[in-house]
Amino acid sequence: MIALLTPSCSLSEKARIIDAIERSGLRAHLDRIDGRERIGAPGANSDLARALASFPGVDEVHAQKNAYARVSRESEPQSRTRVRVGDVVFGGRDIVVAAGPCAVETEDQIHETAGIVAGLGATVLRGGAFKPRTSPYSFQGLGQQGLELLRAAGDRTGLPVVTEVVSPNEVEVVAEYADMLQVGARNMQNFSLLRAVGESQKPVWLKRGMMSTVKELLLAAEYVVDAGNPDVVLCERGIRSFDQSTRNTFDVNAIPLLKRETHLPVVADPSHGCGVRDLVPHVARAAIAAGADGLMVEVH
Ligand code: PEP
Ligand code: MN
Repeated sequence: MIALLTPSCSLSEKARIIDAIERSGLRAHLDRIDGRERIGAPGANSDLARALASFPGVDEVHAQKNAYARVSRESEPQSRTRVRVGDVVFGGRDIVVAAGPCAVETEDQIHETAGIVAGLGATVLRGGAFKPRTSPYSFQGLGQQGLELLRAAGDRTGLPVVTEVVSPNEVEVVAEYADMLQVGARNMQNFSLLRAVGESQKPVWLKRGMMSTVKELLLAAEYVVDAGNPDVVLCERGIRSFDQSTRNTFDVNAIPLLKRETHLPVVADPSHGCGVRDLVPHVARAAIAAGADGLMVEVH
C-alpha cells in the first residue's frame, strides 16, 4: 500500500500515519517521487488502507498487487533505478560488462586476466574468493587472500570489483575489499544472507537460483531492499531443465519479464547460463537484445 500525502501534510500528521502502520507490525517508508511525498507500507491489508485513507494529511491510498512491493514497477512507474558502482552505472545508457575468472587462483592469474578484460572493454572485474561449491572437495577459493588479490588487480586496472559472499558473517570482510557483493544462485533464498547484504552499504549483484521462479527472484530482491539497501541488480544465469546438452538453460524470457516487473537493473550471465564457451557470445547478444543492462562473463 502507498499513501500519497497532501502538500500540506505536517510532521505530526506524518508521525501519526507512520505510527499507525508500525502498530500493525509493518514497516513504513517515507519518500518522495515526482516532487510528491508518500508513505509506503508493504504488506498492508485493506482494513489498514481504508483507515489510513481518512487520516489528515493523506490524499490518496493505492493498493499494491505485488508482494514484491518495493522492487515492483508499481512503486516507481516513471523511473528506473540506476545502481552506481564507482564510475559504472547499471541501468543507464551503457551496457556494463563484468568479466574475470570464476575464482581468483593466483596473483599472476588475476592480474593478467584483469589487464586483458580491461583492455577489451570490461568495466567491472569479477572473481570469486569465497566459492559456493557443490562438492566439499572442490577448490573453495582463497578466502581473504583472494579478496586482497582481486582488490589489487582492480586497483591496478582501475576497475571496480564484484565478488561473491556466501555467509552472513563474511559480509563485513567481503565489503571491506569489494565494490559490489554477489549473492550466488545457490544462496538466492538464504534469507539471513539477503538481510545481511541488505544492511551493508555496498550494491548487490543478485543471481537467480537455478530452480527459482522469476517471482522468487523478485521477492529475494525485496528482502535486500527492505533491509535498507536499494542498490540491487538482478541477474539471469540459467535454470535447470531436462536438457543436459548445456550446463543450464538460459531463460531469455526472464529478462523482458523482469524489466516489466521491476525498476531495478537486469543483467545476464551467459557463461553459467549455458556453460559452453562457443555459445556464450550468442547468448550474450540475445540477452542484450532482450533488454539486459549488462553481462557477467567468465574469462580464463
Ligand atoms: C559464479 O559467478 O562463479 C557462480 C558460482 O555463479 P552462480 O551462483 O550463478 O552459479
Ligand atoms: Mn563460476
